[in-house]
Amino acid sequence: MLDTQPVDPDILLALVDVHRSYEQADKHLVVLDGADLQVRAGEMVALVAPSGAGKSTLLHIAGLLERPTSGEVFIAGEPQGQAVDRARTLMRRNEIGFVYQFHHLLAEFSALENVTLPQLIRGEKPSEAKAKALELLSYMKVDHRAQHRPAELSGGEQQRVAIARAMANAPRVLLADEPTGNLDPNTSEYVFKALNSLVKQSGIAALVATHNLFLAERMDRQITIVDGKIVEL
Ligand code: ADP
Repeated sequence: MLDTQPVDPDILLALVDVHRSYEQADKHLVVLDGADLQVRAGEMVALVAPSGAGKSTLLHIAGLLERPTSGEVFIAGEPQGQAVDRARTLMRRNEIGFVYQFHHLLAEFSALENVTLPQLIRGEKPSEAKAKALELLSYMKVDHRAQHRPAELSGGEQQRVAIARAMANAPRVLLADEPTGNLDPNTSEYVFKALNSLVKQSGIAALVATHNLFLAERMDRQITIVDGKIVEL
C-alpha cells in the first residue's frame, strides 16, 4: 500500500516498492525493481554493491534528488511522492544530510563558514548558526581548523568538516556515498568512528554506500542490490 505511512515512528527513511528504470538509446534499463528499505533512528546501514548495481540511483531517490518511476519514499514518516518540487527541496534541505566521496566544500569559505552557511540559508540567526557550527566542528574534532579554508585542510579534516556541514540543519536522514573512499586506512578509520558516534548520538538514520568491507561490517546492517531489489547481507 503505497500511501500508507510506516507506522513505526522510529523508521526515519523508508522506501516502499520502489522502481526506477531508464530509457537508454534502444533499451529499457531496469535499475530498481521493487526495492524496499527501512532505516531506523540511530541506525547505520552499509550499502555494498558492485558498480552499476544502482547504488547512486538508490541514494538519489532516497535523497529526493530523483523521483522513482513508481513506489514511495517516506522521510520521517512523510510520503514524498506527491510532494511538489518546492516541498521536496525544503524536505531535502531540512531533513536530509549528504556526504560525498569528495568533500564538495566551498573553496572560498572557511570550515566554519561552510558549516554556518546551510543554516543561514534555512533562516537561522547568524550568531546561533555560528555557535552550532562550532559545536559540530568540535564534535568532529576539527574546531581548531575552523578558520581554515578547505585547501588548507588534510583529506580527513575536509571530510570531517563535510560531515559537520551535512549535520548542520539537524537532519533526520544522512546519506553518504563512499564517505571514506578517498582516504588512507588510518584516516578513514578516524572519520568512520566520528561519523558513527555522531549517528548514535544524534539518532539520525544513516545509509552509507561503501566499497570498504571492513567498515561495512562494523555498521549495524549490510545490504546490497540484487536484480533491482534490496537484499540483506
Ligand atoms: P552504481 O552507483 O551502483 O554504480 P548507478 O545507480 O549509478 O549504479 O547506475 C545503475 C545503472 O543505471 C547503470 O547501468 C547506469 O548506466 C544506469 N543509469 C544511471 N543513471 C542513468 C541515467 N540518468 N540515464 C540512463 N541510465 C542511467
